[in-house]
Amino acid sequence: MTSSTCDLAELELKELESALAPLGIEPYRAKQIYSWVHGRAVNEWEHMTDLPKKYRKSLAEAFTISTPRVVQRTLSGDGTMKFLFELTDCRRIEAVYIPDSPAHTFCISTQVGCAMQCTFCLTAKMGLERHLTAGEIAAQVRLLRSELKLLEQPVNVVLMGMGEPLHNYEATMRALRIMTSAHGAALSPRRITLSTVGILPALTRLASEPIMPNLAISLHGTTEEQRSSLLPVNRRYPLAELLATCRAFPLKRRSRITFEYVLIRDFNDSPADARRLARLLVGLRAKVNVIPLNSAPGIPYERPSSAKIDRFGRLLAEHRVTVSIRKSRGRDIRAACGQLVLEGTQPSPSQQLAGLMDTGVPSTPTSEL
Ligand code: SF4
Repeated sequence: MTSSTCDLAELELKELESALAPLGIEPYRAKQIYSWVHGRAVNEWEHMTDLPKKYRKSLAEAFTISTPRVVQRTLSGDGTMKFLFELTDCRRIEAVYIPDSPAHTFCISTQVGCAMQCTFCLTAKMGLERHLTAGEIAAQVRLLRSELKLLEQPVNVVLMGMGEPLHNYEATMRALRIMTSAHGAALSPRRITLSTVGILPALTRLASEPIMPNLAISLHGTTEEQRSSLLPVNRRYPLAELLATCRAFPLKRRSRITFEYVLIRDFNDSPADARRLARLLVGLRAKVNVIPLNSAPGIPYERPSSAKIDRFGRLLAEHRVTVSIRKSRGRDIRAACGQLVLEGTQPSPSQQLAGLMDTGVPSTPTSEL
């Protein structure tokens, strides 16, 4: 990209309309371009055949359409596929494709690494290298739809890959607006799930966004102490305040908050934990997704036995909690929950989390990256 070019991948539709004006191109052309780029995943101007040739030439001079490069695909025995993408600054991120019926699921990243230091998560060991831009977040979906030939099919998107989406608030919200634009990929917000450890100022802000994804909360513990030892962010935003914020969260009709609970042997998998969890959620429109831990080298916890996993799920159900026990997909290729990590990165998370704790600032604007 030269200094005079603008990255179209970062623009919302209205911004693109304005950016076309100096080129003398009519605003309605923005919808055509958006449909090519985001709807059909085409990023070469000469292929945008409903645009006059003279426009294509000036568009090519004025805009780039930055697109990560697919470096590697790794296929799991269960059909899950992990994608390694390289960004324009040569940093790398991962996204995961989980084939399913009736809709396939893409698990995408919002940051290179993560600052949250969750003690059961491999990504945490990378520390935060940088936030992704909105274009880089949305491009993962664009690339996966195109690489997997799923342009015509409904897909679910979960913001559960590398990073904490609410720590990169502005870019994440902009990416949601880009991905859901009726003239682009037109993803339904009902098919998008944002998973967060619960950065409360950002969660409160999310409640008033016009585009509302499904909400998943990484809970993982039933007491302040237990949760703090898994998610250090709990010391800044305690469990009690998190649940109060969830109770006040304006849910759409018939929707519920998903509470994710990583089940760890002899740590949070006892009958007392299950009963406490059920009590915490009384009165909330909630479902619990129990995720048996994916053990990994460097992670100081173990996966419970199948019998304990079943008992935990059964106890929740007996207490009238809607519960599902997540089948781990892609464990053999390290694509399962909490297993996304890039080799050769330097862990430096302590200072980053300390910075977040000190300020409580949930977001670094994309422009400051
Ligand atoms: S679990 Fe999520 S929020 Fe926690 S360190 Fe890993 S990527 Fe970050």
